[in-house]
Parts: sequence; structure tokens; C-alpha cells
Amino acid sequence: MHQDTTVCPQLHVPAMRDIVLPTEEEEPPGTGLCPQSALRPLGEQSVHPKVVRLPAARLARTTSTTRRFRRRFYPDVDDKTWNDWQWQVRNRVRSFERLDAMIRLSDAERAALLRPEGKLPLAVTPYYMSLVAPDDETQPLRRTVIPCAGELVQMAGESDDPLGEEHQSPVPGLVHRYPDRVLLLLSDFCSTYCRYCTRSRVVGHGRITPNRTRLEAALDYIRANPQVRDVLLSGGDPLTLGDDRLEWILSRLRQIRHVEVVRIGTKVPAVLPQRITRKLVTMLRRYHPLWMSLHFTHPDECTPESHRACAMLADAGIPLGSQTVLLRGINDNVPVMAELMHRLMRMRVRPYYLYQCDPISGSGHFRTPIAKGLEIIRGLRGFTSGYAVPTYVVDAPGGGGKIPLMPEYALGHDAAGDMLLKNYEGDVYHYPDGAVEAKKQQIH
Ligand code: SF4
Repeated sequence: MHQDTTVCPQLHVPAMRDIVLPTEEEEPPGTGLCPQSALRPLGEQSVHPKVVRLPAARLARTTSTTRRFRRRFYPDVDDKTWNDWQWQVRNRVRSFERLDAMIRLSDAERAALLRPEGKLPLAVTPYYMSLVAPDDETQPLRRTVIPCAGELVQMAGESDDPLGEEHQSPVPGLVHRYPDRVLLLLSDFCSTYCRYCTRSRVVGHGRITPNRTRLEAALDYIRANPQVRDVLLSGGDPLTLGDDRLEWILSRLRQIRHVEVVRIGTKVPAVLPQRITRKLVTMLRRYHPLWMSLHFTHPDECTPESHRACAMLADAGIPLGSQTVLLRGINDNVPVMAELMHRLMRMRVRPYYLYQCDPISGSGHFRTPIAKGLEIIRGLRGFTSGYAVPTYVVDAPGGGGKIPLMPEYALGHDAAGDMLLKNYEGDVYHYPDGAVEAKKQQIH
């Protein structure tokens, strides 16, 4: 192998909603079906634990930031109550007044909260609220969950359903885009609403509910389509359903012989880690092979609580992959993204997808150019473990599906038939790509 940087061409990189404050009390879909479950007390650990193979019982219970927040805003709430996921859901921060009491709202946030014409409701669990900086409107976690005026601006190319899901839905709440798998939306409820949500047109409005008639129709569709070997449960967040409802759907999917794999997409370990209870994981492990895609956005979400939730899921034999949306000013640089991927790996979550932010209405302030995503992948590949490098994808507007994007490492063939390959440091190497074919022709 020889190196010839003089022939190295420059890497070509393509140059490239509104808010509704809840008007009526919204009930979590799981309420009343799943008995509350308290977490066991845990040991102390730093905010960002360095060692993850410790048994869950030795992980820290929480951070000093969360403790301070609890002392200030929930002084009378004991540990058992705070760690009850249904209490967390019932006590989500959902009103301007409550938010205003907890953080110093900026003019842009205030403007968004006081405009009633939006599409995406406000809701943040008390736990996640404890991670939000009260005095810094630019803090990444704050920007992901607190409305701001940018949501009210619709830019060219944006739409409410950029992925065309409504046109690929043979039965309500089921999307069949790829040949061998379907997406089944269990409900439109989330414990915390992300301001960049791809399904902001539906989440939080109570129109997609886990009602039996709709789900039976979806199951009938899956039964009638034997090519469906993989079912992705999403929403909303499927883990906001109670254990009984979740088991109802899992057990029925398991009875369909051609469904080989069930996956669950969830942000619960990041925003409501209290939901991951012993009872839940005991139930889930009955339905293997079961996979999970966990939505994490920033390293600050990797707290002792989320760490413990992931440990419990991993200990139940559930393969964990991550999904991260690339967001401007939040995670759009190599150090932050590398740190997130490293922390996920320490939590036994395999970085899976890095998504280009979809052009949903009101998402312009979150979106980066595609070149930024390629730059981040280039800054990870080779500089860190291959396992820590997610696949960067653009979900094609209009329903074309995920399209993976990679910086160009294969530069084409030279006159001798060698393939020119660029490594992570930008050096170019020749691979004798044509030699095998030439040798074969000589032999024959
Ligand atoms: S958790 Fe997922 S479905 Fe719910 S608001 Fe966030 S991105 Fe949307």
C-alpha cells in the first residue's frame, strides 16, 4: 500500500408550528392500568458516570442539580412519589404560569407561549424540568422542550407531514413504507414534547389513542401481510402506556408467526426514566426478540437516572440503539456529538441513527445544512470506535424513506484500475481493485 496525497482531490461535500397550551386535563394512556412502582434506593455517583458495568444498585440515584430543583419546587414530595412514573406524568409542567415560576422566560419563549395558534402542546416532566437551566435560554435541553418564537415561522419547503406518512397508512395509525416492516403508532401521547417532533401534527392531541378497535384493525393488517417481519411500535411514546396495555399489544404481535422482531421507539429513558420499573422489564423480556430505539439528543440527558433505566433494559436482554436528531445549536458539533455517543456506549446503548432534522412546519431554527451532518460523521469516523459512529440519514421528504449519507471515502479508480480511498486523516491510499479481475483474465 502506498500513499499519494498529491493525487488526492478535495473531498466533495454538497454545499449545500405553532403551540397549543393544553386547554383540558390530559390523562396519560397508562393511568389506571399500571400500578405505580417505586424505585429502589441507589448509591451515589457523579453526574456523568465513568464506569457503567456497575450493577444498577450501585449507581447514583440522582444529581445535585435535580436535588436542588426538587428542594425548591417540590419540597414536600418524597422519594417514593418523585420516582413514581405516573406521578411524574400527572405533574408535568404544562402551563405558562407554572413554567414562568420555574425559569426566567425570554421574550421569544414568552411570545411563543402566549400565542394560542400552535400545534404542539407544552409538557415537560418534573424530572426533565430539573435538568433545564432556569437562566439560560440557549441551554440545549431547554431549547428542545421549551417553545420559542421560531416555531411560529413556516419556512419554504416545510410541511406538517414532510414524510408523507398520511399517504402510506393503510389503516389508521399504521404506516407501511418499507417492504418487510411497518410502523404502528400506539398513541399520540408523550410525557414530554420535543419542539422538533416529526409528528408534531399529531402528538399530544388525543386523536391517536390505544383503543382496541383501531389496534385490532392494525393487527388484522399485519396478519394479512406475511411479508411484515418487523413491527416498530411508536407514537407518541409507547412506554407511556401502562404495562397491561403494552402487554396486550405485544402478546398479540407475538402470536403472528411471521412477525420475527418487535421494536419500540421511545424517549422515556431520557425524559421519564422512572417508567423503567422491575415490573415493566419483567413483562418485556417475555416478548423477545424485542429491540428498542432510544431517543437521546444531548450528553446532559445521560444522567444517573437514565443510566439506570438503560441498565435495566439492557439487563433484560433488550438490544438498545440510539436515535438522535441533528439540531442547530444543540448538538451540531463534533465534541458534543462524540460525547453523547460515548456516554450512550457507556450506558450500553449502541449509537444507531443520526437524523437530519425533518422539514416540519416551524423547524427552521433547528435545522442545519446537510454538510454539517457529514462534517460530524467525518469528525467521528476513525477518531473514535466504529460502534460510536451512528448512520447519518435523511428521511426523504414525500415518503422516500431513509437515505444514508456518508462523507466520500471512495474517490474512484485511477488509470491502473486501483481504487483510491481516503482515510479519516485525509490521506489517500490505493487498493488494487482491478488486480483480481486482471489475474482471472490471465488464468483463463
Ligand atoms: S418523544 Fe418522540 S414522539 Fe414524543 S414529542 Fe419527542 S420526538 Fe415526538
